Amino acid sequence: MFTLPPLPYADNALEPVISANTISFHYGKHHRTYVDNLNNLVKGTEFEGAALEKIIAETAGKADRAAIFNNAAQIWNHTFYWHSLRANGGGKPTGKVAQMIEASFGGYDNFRKELSATTVSQFGSGWGWLVVDGGALKVVKTGNAEVPFTKGQKPLLTIDVWEHAYYLDHQNKRAAYVDAVIDRLLNWEFANQNLP
Ligand code: MN
Repeated sequence: MFTLPPLPYADNALEPVISANTISFHYGKHHRTYVDNLNNLVKGTEFEGAALEKIIAETAGKADRAAIFNNAAQIWNHTFYWHSLRANGGGKPTGKVAQMIEASFGGYDNFRKELSATTVSQFGSGWGWLVVDGGALKVVKTGNAEVPFTKGQKPLLTIDVWEHAYYLDHQNKRAAYVDAVIDRLLNWEFANQNLP
């Protein structure tokens, strides 16, 4: 059985960018529902008891497995998202990621602009990501539940731009939410830990 992983901080730790109220729905309802759905969907199938990453890899791109893929990938994405954020985070990176951002984007300001623009421009529900692709860092976006690692890209950080991530706090102002996450919440220690 899959279980809802613990939130790595208090429900009000990300205020005022992400309120405890948003966390109560986003983590307490949406993330939990993906867990409940996946447990029901895999019951009695070959995926019962399989690891989450294996389920995602084996159902990606298969139309007849879309429900299992969507719920499995959304569990993975949300757990990764909670860890991509921290209180008093954001701003300039540290460690090896900082050097890689210099090399891949020509400096933090270029990187910040690209991460913001790419994430904000995801049409409809989805995710903005910082990934490692072939030894360099890239900013990419994915729609709905799609995950970069099914295409060989290693995620370092993600930003959820489904409306449930920001609507209670920022309404339609997606860019205000994305920029505040980048400037105040990104967890660069987590990004460094995810380097291959
Ligand atoms: Mn979400």
